[in-house]
Amino acid sequence: MSTVGSVGISELQAAIRNVPDFPKPGIQFKDITPVLGDARLFRGLVHHLTSGFEPGSVDAIAGIDARGFIFGGAMAIELNAAFVPIRKQGKLPYRTHEARYDLEYGSTTIAIHVDAVRPGSKVILIDDVLATGGTAAAAMELLKRLGAEVLGAVFFIELEFLKGREKLRGVPVRSLVAY
Ligand code: AMP
Repeated sequence: MSTVGSVGISELQAAIRNVPDFPKPGIQFKDITPVLGDARLFRGLVHHLTSGFEPGSVDAIAGIDARGFIFGGAMAIELNAAFVPIRKQGKLPYRTHEARYDLEYGSTTIAIHVDAVRPGSKVILIDDVLATGGTAAAAMELLKRLGAEVLGAVFFIELEFLKGREKLRGVPVRSLVAY
């Protein structure tokens, strides 16, 4: 027996693997692959990520490269919504809008197809981890440039001490597990 409802947040949190000093010294990487590797946990996670949103009330899920694609695709199916990829610069084949943002060292650019969502579309943004919020804020900027109505930004994990939420003011932010 494996009902989705039986997967609690604490069980999901217990499955997150902390990998110290990856990809560089001082970073504790939150590895979500143990959750993906367990069918019951993965399904339970997707259920929690979509809870509060009704099928038919969301036009599209926008997932951030790359782990946001894994959750976002599954959420889109569950909510009967479209899926929109927000990718690193140079990966999307058609015309794009781009947003540049600062990293600890240097900067990076993400992109979205110019026709990814229609103006007024109701969109949910999804990624695995909210850290400094730079990536999600840039993704939000791209969605707003297309005229999307962002219903919320959803994350499996939030690193609260990095205060990423402050960069997403004006949009409801939800995370399942906070550190
Ligand atoms: P940020 O722009 O700082 O909020 O970083 C968010 C992006 O970096 C997300 O796409 C995450 O997948 C990734 N990320 C940042 N910090 C971590 C971490 N400690 N563990 C895993 N992924 C992370």
